[in-house]
Amino acid sequence: MRQKIVAGNWKMNYNFAEGVQFMTEMKSLLNKRNSYNAKIIIIPPFIHLTDFVRNFGGSFMTFGAQNLYEQEKGAFTGEISAAMIRSVGADYVLVGHSERRQYFAETNSQLAVKVRLALKNNICPIYCCGETLLQRNDYILFDIIKEQLEVGLFSLSGEEFQKIMIAYEPVWAIGTGVVATPVQAQEMHAYIRGLISKKYGNDIAVQTSILYGGSVKSSNAAELFKLPDVDGGLVGGASLNAVEFCDIIIAC
Ligand code: PEP
Repeated sequence: MRQKIVAGNWKMNYNFAEGVQFMTEMKSLLNKRNSYNAKIIIIPPFIHLTDFVRNFGGSFMTFGAQNLYEQEKGAFTGEISAAMIRSVGADYVLVGHSERRQYFAETNSQLAVKVRLALKNNICPIYCCGETLLQRNDYILFDIIKEQLEVGLFSLSGEEFQKIMIAYEPVWAIGTGVVATPVQAQEMHAYIRGLISKKYGNDIAVQTSILYGGSVKSSNAAELFKLPDVDGGLVGGASLNAVEFCDIIIAC
């Protein structure tokens, strides 16, 4: 179901003690601010999940993993399965973050397998898509996003599709300090919603949560989050500062 969401992707940051300190600070900051509507998803390193779910989880504070492996189980040293993620109480998993696509050569068809495994284990996949600067400048950005969605997601049934979320993250905006303008963000989010509508119908398209990611900060969050097709944000760098992250949550 469509809702306002702020997700914080910690990437490979914060050891366990630092993570607990962050969560404690954030909890106390949010307790002082009684008005926020967004659902919060913290996406820390895998090893923090068990403790965080137990000690900080609640209806507004949920957790996700940053990745999952594309096999159910077996001799894949170092990998983490969907069932393992589910077993520690995480409700979400990022699939196809641009860093996974870029540094680990993950393809749209591999990501389609990961999406299915997440769903099979009752985990909501947050499917990331986004174009590089070169692709934007060559004006093939819409073709790139279309392919990422068609191959990665559009083999799902309508019923399955209603259990996923999408994050539009232009690669040129991730970690660069360059944020998409409201016009650029709205244009792509509307395009994505249009593709969903064509494939699954308008009822499903209007119920799909589409997050924006790429250099979101407290100073730009409000103007992005009020756009008609932007349902919140996937936040990297700014999710590592509790005050800044809480201000982003309040802006949603
Ligand atoms: C991300 O990694 O998903 C992200 C959006 O990073 P940042 O907010 O730092 O650009």
